[in-house]
Amino acid sequence: MTKIGVLALQGAVSEHADMLRRLGVDVCDVLDPNDLDGLDGLVLPGGESTAVGKLLDFYQLLEPIREMGRKGFPIFGTCTGLILLSKHINGSEQLRLGLMDTFVERNAFGRQLASFEANMPIDVLGETPFPTVFIRAPYIDKIEGEARSLLELDGKILMVEQGNLLATAFHPELTDDTRVHEYFLQKVNVYKKREIVVGR
Ligand code: GLN
Repeated sequence: MTKIGVLALQGAVSEHADMLRRLGVDVCDVLDPNDLDGLDGLVLPGGESTAVGKLLDFYQLLEPIREMGRKGFPIFGTCTGLILLSKHINGSEQLRLGLMDTFVERNAFGRQLASFEANMPIDVLGETPFPTVFIRAPYIDKIEGEARSLLELDGKILMVEQGNLLATAFHPELTDDTRVHEYFLQKVNVYKKREIVVGR
């Protein structure tokens, strides 16, 4: 059975776990490096990225997760997770995993738009628009290298993938729509198949 870890240092952990369980996968909380053993993928939930970066470092998770991500292990970040996955955080030296070729702007929608919801069409998820929920969200203002935009609005990139990595500025775990998580699980399945081939 597929086993997905949810980083449980801070933030919207249980919503991700519930959604993943609905999709029939085994879920466990990740709190220290031993929890990474035997996982097929990892979710980095929303929260506060400066705090989570420090906690990742403190619990000695920063280096092992970075190394796994570099080697093809699937990681899906929402909001703070997107910030932590980005190589570049505009105007900030905060700790990060730094795996994706993205330039991210934090708290980028200003005070009036601190939180908002909107239905947005996302090609890779099919025709029905996705109910996006944004909470003090970042956006990506530039990508390079292998990063690919999956959703863009007025020059702001809101969903991105780079091989085994997937990130959204919004919170799919706060909706009833499982399509973004399913899209991530497709990456997990590709990774699992590759592992079996390598294992031979
Ligand atoms: N504003 C937060 C940060 O900079 C992200 C908010 C969220 O994860 N919902 O980390």
